[in-house]
Amino acid sequence: MKITDVKTIRLRALIPTEGQVFSRSGVRNTRSTTLIKVATDDGIYGLGSASGNGELIEFIVARVLKPLLVGMDPTEIDEIWDTAYVRGGHKEFGTRGIGVVALSGVDIALWDILGKVRGIPLYQLLGGKVRDKVPVYATALYPEAPSKVAARARGFAEQGFHGVKIKVGFDLDQDIRIVRAVRQELGKDFIVMTDANQGYSVEVGIKAAQAFADAGAFWLEEPLFVEDIEGHAILRERGNTPIAVGENLHMSYAFENFILRGAVDFIQPDVARAGGITEIRKITALAAKHNVPVSFHTWGDGVALAASVHLSAALKDCIVMELDYTYNPLREELLREPFKVEDGYLTPPERPGLGIELNPDALQRFAFAGSEDLAIRQKTLA
Ligand SMILES: [Mg+2]
Repeated sequence: MKITDVKTIRLRALIPTEGQVFSRSGVRNTRSTTLIKVATDDGIYGLGSASGNGELIEFIVARVLKPLLVGMDPTEIDEIWDTAYVRGGHKEFGTRGIGVVALSGVDIALWDILGKVRGIPLYQLLGGKVRDKVPVYATALYPEAPSKVAARARGFAEQGFHGVKIKVGFDLDQDIRIVRAVRQELGKDFIVMTDANQGYSVEVGIKAAQAFADAGAFWLEEPLFVEDIEGHAILRERGNTPIAVGENLHMSYAFENFILRGAVDFIQPDVARAGGITEIRKITALAAKHNVPVSFHTWGDGVALAASVHLSAALKDCIVMELDYTYNPLREELLREPFKVEDGYLTPPERPGLGIELNPDALQRFAFAGSEDLAIRQKTLA
């Protein structure tokens, strides 16, 4: 069996005004993602997802990865990593960053192929299920009046979600008011996470972490710039709120640096960014060795979500998984059978590989070949 093609499929959906949220990068009015399709000479194909700038991913796949991979056996995944990263690829696109993102999408597609070849679902390839269904928490609380955020949080709790995450990292006083309002609304036992998307300095982060600890926050996510490992270690020691990091880390080496320097309590690798399923297995093995729980970050689309659900079902040390629950047709409409949250759980598909099929109508509607429109996202409400 040989790889005959490695294709990128760029998608973008516009978000109507009522679905837009005010994030750290401004008002979000589009959602975009890049799928990877690996074709083979016997008709089996694999799907993957790469979460990053689509133009750059497309370029790296076309100019570096596809020429290296065409003709190789897609089921020899370690051999492909050796060619595409260790001996070859990293010299072209670096050891971290967008090249690893592109490779993540290719790797997910290879595991999809392997599952289809063997006729078993991905979770089975990963050693079998340790849980039949995966508990998820909702990421959908962005800055608004504290009473409004609290009311939304109540809605997610009533739908059965296992936790809610509040976006902070804006104005500290406002952040604290919102976190307190949500805690008051949901009572003392409900899981409430906070996520600063790298928005604080060490000094402000310590104050935030202390205030969030008083409000019983489960964790403070990405308080600081992702490369400031020392800052995270200081914050962890002085802030009293557990620290979660990982959605912007690539390859197990980056996670190892955080873990060995005592800078993190929960790690949150993203399968469509950190190095695909192959690297996630190394990351989770490392985390298990150091007793650091794993909670997968998910963001872009239904394909990445499928991979994350299989991983969360199969890997023992995974706790509650993230589910972005903001407006996103690339999550809700991209698959023929979209994932549905039932009482706060997602269930891995039983068909071979990822166990998903794309909806051709959605592919057509969301096809996108233009430039990534960063300027739009940089507008802020300020
Ligand atoms: Mg986050």
